[in-house]
Amino acid sequence: SQRVVIIGAGIVGTNLADELVSRGWSDITVVEQGPLHMPGGSTSHAPGLVFQTSPSKTMTHLARYTVEKLLSIEKDGHRCFNQVGGLEVATTPARLEDLKRKHGYASSWGIEARLVSAEECCKMYPHLNNDMVLGGLHIPSDGLALAARATQLLIERTSKAGVRYLGHTPVTGIEREGRRVTGVSTPSGTLPADIVVSCAGFWGVELGAMVGVEIPLLPLAHQYAKTTAVPALAGRGINNMINGMNATLPILRHQDKRLYYREHGGQYGIGYYGHRPMPVVAASLGLTPKEVDEKNMPSRLDFTTEDFDPAWKESQKLLPALQNTEIADGFNGVFSFTPDGGPILGQPSHLDGFYVAEAVWVTHSAGVARALAQILTTGRSDIDVSECELSRFEEVQLNGDYVSETGQQNFVEIYDILHPLQQRASPRNLRVSPFYARQQDLGAVFFETGGWERPWWYEANKDLVKSLPLSWQPVERDAWSAQLHSPISAAEAWKTRNAVAMFDMTAFHRFDVRGPGAVGLLQRLTTSDITTKPGTVTYTLLLNDHGGIRGDIFVLRLDDDVFQIGANTATDLAYLTREARVQEQKTPGQWIQVRDITGSTCCIGLWGPRARDVIAGISTVDVSNKGLPYFSLKKTVLQGIPVTLIRKSYVGELGWEIQTSAEYGQRLWDTIWQAGKLHGLIAGGRSAFNSMRLEKGYRTYGVDMTTEHNPFEAGVSYAVDANKKGDFVGKAALQRLSKQVPSRRLRALTVDDGRSMILGKEPVFYNGKAAGYVTTAAFGYTIGKPSAYAWLPGYVREGETVEVEYFGKRIRATVEAESLYDPEMNRLRQ
Ligand code: FAD
Repeated sequence: SQRVVIIGAGIVGTNLADELVSRGWSDITVVEQGPLHMPGGSTSHAPGLVFQTSPSKTMTHLARYTVEKLLSIEKDGHRCFNQVGGLEVATTPARLEDLKRKHGYASSWGIEARLVSAEECCKMYPHLNNDMVLGGLHIPSDGLALAARATQLLIERTSKAGVRYLGHTPVTGIEREGRRVTGVSTPSGTLPADIVVSCAGFWGVELGAMVGVEIPLLPLAHQYAKTTAVPALAGRGINNMINGMNATLPILRHQDKRLYYREHGGQYGIGYYGHRPMPVVAASLGLTPKEVDEKNMPSRLDFTTEDFDPAWKESQKLLPALQNTEIADGFNGVFSFTPDGGPILGQPSHLDGFYVAEAVWVTHSAGVARALAQILTTGRSDIDVSECELSRFEEVQLNGDYVSETGQQNFVEIYDILHPLQQRASPRNLRVSPFYARQQDLGAVFFETGGWERPWWYEANKDLVKSLPLSWQPVERDAWSAQLHSPISAAEAWKTRNAVAMFDMTAFHRFDVRGPGAVGLLQRLTTSDITTKPGTVTYTLLLNDHGGIRGDIFVLRLDDDVFQIGANTATDLAYLTREARVQEQKTPGQWIQVRDITGSTCCIGLWGPRARDVIAGISTVDVSNKGLPYFSLKKTVLQGIPVTLIRKSYVGELGWEIQTSAEYGQRLWDTIWQAGKLHGLIAGGRSAFNSMRLEKGYRTYGVDMTTEHNPFEAGVSYAVDANKKGDFVGKAALQRLSKQVPSRRLRALTVDDGRSMILGKEPVFYNGKAAGYVTTAAFGYTIGKPSAYAWLPGYVREGETVEVEYFGKRIRATVEAESLYDPEMNRLRQ
């Protein structure tokens, strides 16, 4: 087996050692700077509350596995998980509504949960102030992880299996030869390794810097306090229970005031996120002392009482039993925050053998460790972890200022009720397309993604709403789905379907892939034959060896050895870069250059039945269907501007993506705008775009389909070339999968009443039972109904009725044949 060095013996590092050992790997060393019995990282003082349910399916499933695993670790009657259940209470009507939404997530992801009345909350949790509580959400399988104990038991069990643990051993450097790590250096010498995994928690930034890898996490201090003995908790015989199961009440969240609670025998433990963010630089904490104890460890900073004052007042209100107690002990404990709140898992593209698993809560620890162990041993994790990928961040999101500002913001908002389209106020305007000034002039309302500002709709189109035909008039929305929405989107969709609109496509990733090895690379990684003649466009899939979808891309063949890739994520770039490097090493001379050209280029999607009229007026090349057929491209000049015309469309209408380099962008916009005046051209935003995309049946990678799905289930087998010659990643798996009847399918739904909105991630019920979940949803303006995609069991047929739960209300929907709009593709191919 490979020689593995794991840095850090916290809950993540020890779980990883355990998961690797259980998969038959034997040469593992765990290096820990602190003493092994209490290493002094975040795990050593973690109160261990495990609330499993979140809006993310991935995170919920990582948590669910962690609970299962911790429940299974036991020694001499000492267990590692106290399954007391979890109770989240609402003290405001908005929170009560939000708990309904959360209950929906639990149903979607398969976690048993129950909405409970105020009365039931108080029965379940007698110390609650029944004048304050309006209701709650109870999750029986949540509970308390005894994380420090679990770490010790894992050290014991993996040591027996041959894992070496080196305590009091700081890693001071990571050794490498070329692009491969070869080991770690410590004061007592070098430890050779084929694989080095940094599980260093909030020290991750420092470890990454040793090999030039930017780790976008921010250590922040978070307040946790214990009260003096609470009379109401006395006399229950659990104060000093030897097995550490010192709690019987459910773990409790009072998110309206950014608070959570647990019992410690006769005392209460209180955690608070309402205080000012307190960033910490891990390197400034100094070396872990030789002796660490409960009060003295690098991750435990002095308690700042004044920051906790509001928490204490609120706690005494919510739990009147605390009124006769005091704060006995408190600390500001350090752990990691990231720009999007997710963990960081994976490897950098420029280096082999170096992995990270950081910014992981106890809640997800075993799940993350298993995912990484699966990736190391089989190349793929059962649970899709693309949203945890180290490579998901754009370059602009890796710098210290960005990480600091967004990390602090995530700390502040951790318990806030956030709309799925919620926009951060800052940092903004990090990346703007060359069309930005023109878009501002048109009153664009910008939403941010990956640092890019993208118009969501244009206020300039407001008056069009009045002139919409009756069947296009937007229906009234409920208050939640009306947020961050404008009826102007309906008008923009109408114009696209009936005249012509231009959409800013700049933020979509574009990579230039060229060189003598480029054909070989793309043939090996994609499901299509890309040896078509230059000038063609191919929609294709990137699979893993198991046939799971790891991306969907457009391959544009510009010349024999020159391609442009249209991709979804920065992770696609990391994958192509790594694979190009690996291939080049195997076949010297067959070099491949992979370059991100997203920012140096820009792109306008010009779509609608009159798009040809607009382009014909300014083009010197033949833009007829014969001259430039669907899925073909041509380099040309539009009124002096060098462009590439690409005959493709995300919205299902005739048209082109028109690409040029950044310096010509504004002129290109103006030229098209001018030419379009005669034909009723407008600018359209992403909101209308999403609606039309969904109607047309185009999937969004990472939302509608992930590595957990194969092309047959996801309805994209049309992107697999069954006759493709030669081998490609996932081919063997596809041949096997093609013979199976899918047990689940991604299905299109429309809402029967034509007006009830859904937004995504809601549970879907079939014959009264939870059977699947919605991925994306939007009002389909052309079809005049809300529409959605949902994963459903294979036995649910087209035409059947299902119910989608939205804020506790069941909405009837019909499973539809695809596409909902122009299934014959007549509009696109005309
Ligand atoms: P750590 O436990 O910090 O382990 C990393 C280890 O790496 C450390 O032991 C460190 O000494 C070692 N290390 C670092 N650098 C080096 C080096 N150069 N050489 C050798 N070793 C090195 N999570 C929950 O899920 N639920 C909760 O209720 C909860 N409450 C929390 C309350 C507080 C007050 C705090 C601070 C955190 C809380 N967390 C909670 C978060 C949770 O504790 C952490 O996310 C988790 O413990 C991180 O585990 P880890 O193994 O990644 O990191």
